[in-house]
Amino acid sequence: MKILVINCGSSSLKYQLIDMENEKNLASGLVERIGIEGSVLTQKVEGREKYIVKTPMQDHKDAIKIVLNVLVDKENGVIADMSEISAVGHRVVHGGEKYSKSVLIDDEVMAALEEVAKLAPLHNPPNIIGINACRELMPNTPMSVVFDTAFHQTLPEEAYLYALPYELYTNYGIRKYGFHGTSHKYVSGVAAEMMHKDIKDLKIITCHLGNGASITAVDGGKSVDTSMGFTPLAGIVMGTRCGDIDPAIIPFVMKEMNLSIEEVNNLMNKKSGVLGVSGVSSDFRDIEDAAWKEGNKRAQLALDIFNYRVRQTVGSYVAAMDGVDCIVFTAGLGENSPETREAVCSKLSYLGIKLDLEKNKSRGKALEISTPESKVKVFVVPTNEELMIARDTMNLIK
Ligand code: AMP
Repeated sequence: MKILVINCGSSSLKYQLIDMENEKNLASGLVERIGIEGSVLTQKVEGREKYIVKTPMQDHKDAIKIVLNVLVDKENGVIADMSEISAVGHRVVHGGEKYSKSVLIDDEVMAALEEVAKLAPLHNPPNIIGINACRELMPNTPMSVVFDTAFHQTLPEEAYLYALPYELYTNYGIRKYGFHGTSHKYVSGVAAEMMHKDIKDLKIITCHLGNGASITAVDGGKSVDTSMGFTPLAGIVMGTRCGDIDPAIIPFVMKEMNLSIEEVNNLMNKKSGVLGVSGVSSDFRDIEDAAWKEGNKRAQLALDIFNYRVRQTVGSYVAAMDGVDCIVFTAGLGENSPETREAVCSKLSYLGIKLDLEKNKSRGKALEISTPESKVKVFVVPTNEELMIARDTMNLIK
């Protein structure tokens, strides 16, 4: 059985075709500049050169048509016919409170997605456009939606409610939802396997540290707290997002700098985080280079603030779960930056954590990086959200 996983952004689309017999990635690709001049698709297949198609794509329907054409292309494709695609799994950012699990798409689900779109105005509308385009082009293929928020629907009330007037929750749905759920669920499951234990018996803290970053407390396989909130702006410091700040700063800067709602939103989402502090870049590789090779103090400060906030959050989740058995690092930075992992773990010695500094040098591989004596295990687990989406989709159509 082959499953196509699709993740639509406003002008981009990522896809992966996975063979579920062996969970092998047959082809993955990225379509960029949809609806903009210079639309381009890049497909990667193991053992082959990258295949690039430059052709105008007016909208997501055009983009999906090209993706399907490329997948069945005689020379560059990986399947003979579209009928080989048994199902399509769509990543959708926000499922609101309605969805705590992935679901098969029907008209009722589509109506619910439209309803929830208000909560994620940047993310859900392009997801919906992508699904509609796919349903038009593949009307007889079953499709599912897998939500970034679903895994966090197990948060207890005391963790998800903000101390605002209660009516803001009942009238507008203002609460913590959490994101990156597919990644946190996947890596916590892999860590439990690596410990040869049932996840039901484990307290795990998963650190998804990428351009967007979040940390989750997973108790007995369930998310019990997570650092992102009502939106993905909350929590730890990110590439360009500020994470948690004193909310009173917002009206203050709006007044002092004469900013509109859009401008202050842009400042917090696009100009803050390690980019804002360092003034160098949002990419951690550039910041690490500036700090360590050029002695740039603000770049070092950005890294220090980031690491401090990660440590603080990990500590607070030990408190939330009354203990921790293992800590997992994943995503771009978590998988590839030994220095970040060391900086975070070195001040968690009160938990009895001891890193194996040699093993910690590894990048991008699933590995235990703590010593055998370490009281809390530490793992690097490359995330694989596409595989998780494909697995959920397969289970739903079965
Ligand atoms: P993601 O959003 O998961 O793709 O992660 C992107 C972030 O991971 C970027 O800020 C990258 O700089 C960072 N990253 C990727 N590879 C490395 C590396 N080798 N060392 C440090 N940071 C890295």
